[in-house]
Amino acid sequence: MKNLESLNVAGKRVLVRVDYNVPIENGVIEDDTRITASLPTVNYLLSHGASVILMSHLGRPKGVDEKFRLEPVAAQLEKVLGKPVKYIASKPASLETAKALEGIKPGEVALLENVRFEAGEEKNDPELNRSLAALGDAFVLDAFGSAHRAHSSVSGVAGLLPHAGGILLEAEVKALGKLTEHPVAPYIVIIGGAKVSDKLKVIENLLPKVDRMLIGGGMAYTFVKATGGKIGKSIHEDDYMDTAKRLLEQYPGKIVLPTDTLAGDAFSNDANTKVFATNDIPDDWEGMDIGPDSIKAFSSALAGAKTVFWNGPMGVFEFEKFATGTNAIAKVVAELTGAYTVIGGGDSVSAIHQSGQADKISHISTGGGASLELLEGKILPGVAALD
Ligand code: AMP
Repeated sequence: MKNLESLNVAGKRVLVRVDYNVPIENGVIEDDTRITASLPTVNYLLSHGASVILMSHLGRPKGVDEKFRLEPVAAQLEKVLGKPVKYIASKPASLETAKALEGIKPGEVALLENVRFEAGEEKNDPELNRSLAALGDAFVLDAFGSAHRAHSSVSGVAGLLPHAGGILLEAEVKALGKLTEHPVAPYIVIIGGAKVSDKLKVIENLLPKVDRMLIGGGMAYTFVKATGGKIGKSIHEDDYMDTAKRLLEQYPGKIVLPTDTLAGDAFSNDANTKVFATNDIPDDWEGMDIGPDSIKAFSSALAGAKTVFWNGPMGVFEFEKFATGTNAIAKVVAELTGAYTVIGGGDSVSAIHQSGQADKISHISTGGGASLELLEGKILPGVAALD
């Protein structure tokens, strides 16, 4: 992958694909990590005499949609960058946008409107690629969180302009690469979240490489049911029971499942709660979090780990009552000494921030889906386009 140093950017208009897909509630940005994560690249380009034209998606709009405008992002970027940012509200590939960019000078920053307002973005439409490429003299991909998408602004434009990977993209690929190339043992992976189906490929790809895989969250119940356990109303996927069974047989002792569960009698923060053995949950109860014995077992499995990757919450952590397992694991991972720890995926990243110990993690990825696809062994389309 070519890096920024390989590009001559002085006096050039550099089109930078960033990932500013941040959570926004009533116009307020709830977490600006992805905005601050782009600053090293933006500042590098500015200090090397470029003008910077940023582009990003936000959410999943179908065409132009007021709810998904990047205006609040531009305001926040201005704040953290400490420089004016010209927000261009017209559609990214329009004549108005090209006009608004005409006089941009070295040292100036502009932010285009949501690239998904363009119908061709997700189709990697050649005409859109050409229109976007015409806005710049060079292209930089720094949107690690979108690098697994073969979209116009991610991989399409790269083929039409001199290009390079940004500082964040490079750091992410390097940090996650350490998990697949010669990770130091003991290597423990913690996987949680709702469904096995979403993470099956990464589970299959990592199992041969890890010493232990701790499986929590909703996906654990498919494994428990596959071994004949009674899981009550807990979330599970019958279509994946055979796969779960095969993996348990293929890697005996490697997969660690929760032995007890904090169950609720409703899917609510007001539910009554009770702890049951994970394989003996009564019909009217639903497993909502890993139980106290499982927290202990997962914690001792993590003790002495030298490499750790964590993706996905241990329970329905959005409800405070069922966040105990996720928060406990966040604390254990943060407090490991001498371990290389990586967390990917929005929910586990929020948990580590809530725990106040994010600074103790070796690498917190800005990309959930992208980090999983890298660990599945795939080459991300955005990265491939920079070859
Ligand atoms: P993912 O995006 O796959 O990491 O899944 C995250 C979601 O999994 C969160 O919204 C959690 O509420 C949900 N989740 C975790 N544990 C459970 C559970 N035991 N039952 C239902 N949903 C769960």
